Amino acid sequence: MKLFTVGPTQMRKEILDVGGQMIPYFRTKEFSDIMLDSDAILRELMNAGDGAKSVYLTASGTAAMESAVMNCLTRDDKVLVIEGGTFGHRFVEICRIHRVPFVSLKLHSDETLTDAHLRKFDGQGITALLVNMDETSTGQLYNVKILSDFCRRNHCYFMVDAISSFLIDSYDMAGNGVDVTIVSSQKGMCIAPGLSVVVLSRRMIEERIENRRIDSLYFNYAAYLKDFERGQTPFTPCVGILLEMHHALHLIRDEGLSVFLKKIDTVAKDFRKRARELPVSLPSFPLSNAVTPLIFKDRIAQKVFEILKAEYVIFVNPTGGERAETVLRVAHIGDISTKDNEMLIAAMKEAIAKVSGK
Ligand SMILES: *Cc1c(COP(=O)(O)O)cnc(C)c1O
Repeated sequence: MKLFTVGPTQMRKEILDVGGQMIPYFRTKEFSDIMLDSDAILRELMNAGDGAKSVYLTASGTAAMESAVMNCLTRDDKVLVIEGGTFGHRFVEICRIHRVPFVSLKLHSDETLTDAHLRKFDGQGITALLVNMDETSTGQLYNVKILSDFCRRNHCYFMVDAISSFLIDSYDMAGNGVDVTIVSSQKGMCIAPGLSVVVLSRRMIEERIENRRIDSLYFNYAAYLKDFERGQTPFTPCVGILLEMHHALHLIRDEGLSVFLKKIDTVAKDFRKRARELPVSLPSFPLSNAVTPLIFKDRIAQKVFEILKAEYVIFVNPTGGERAETVLRVAHIGDISTKDNEMLIAAMKEAIAKVSGK
């Protein structure tokens, strides 16, 4: 089996070995030390900044997105949501459910986010910006600089879902004045799904989390921050995945973040070059190194996906919604190499020929 999917990813052997071990009891000094050690590395890798603190949630990425809105925003805010695809739309749904006032900047499926788009919202009393740095449904990697400048100009919070961007593309939380960074285990860290981390800036903690009451027991960040001072969580965490995280973060730090990112960049560029041999086009906007969307001329995407799965035991990402029949997405994270790209392109050529009856 080979996964060219954005999460879960093709996991490294070293991580699978950790996952295969007995889960230890966790209310111990030993486990606390592991958590505090992991957390220091995680914050260092994203340059979280002085006074930043993390919330470790046993939940998928969407729960982290929803809890960030619940804990950091109120019904008196006016949020700008970058709605460039299904994940941006998810923030819209979350704001709606929690009655957080918002305006949406909607992009069509091949539209690049520009500074001109953002300038239309200057001086409108925006109090927070919500964005999925890589909108994984389209593959667009937004320009962090224009988003960061918007937040500085408008003195608003900068809240980033970096789930498919952190540990994939370069990411600098403090350097870009980010107040909230959301990450999830199954994407950039390339470990099992089930863990999400929300890293909060000092100002977000001081201004919005401390002394705040929210209508939730499980998602109350203040309780998580308090327990994490000693490396613990209020409720039973996904201990096994946290041990995988500890191992994964050490592997990345030992290898060097820039070396780690460069490898992904090489695999992504190699695939994009080889994709020219296929009857597909690529989007015109800047792409994250996480995935390459392949846009087919004919409505064969779903059929190609099924053949790759059934005959080659290869998995790529199908696409939801209107583009289901025309777009497949190929991920470049996890334990995959340019050799694997070569194999995938060959399999795709055969699958396409088969579907097209040639
Ligand atoms: C994967 C992903 C999520 C989280 O999805 P879950 O299925 O809830 O883990 C959120 N945002 C982005 C940008 C993603 O790529």
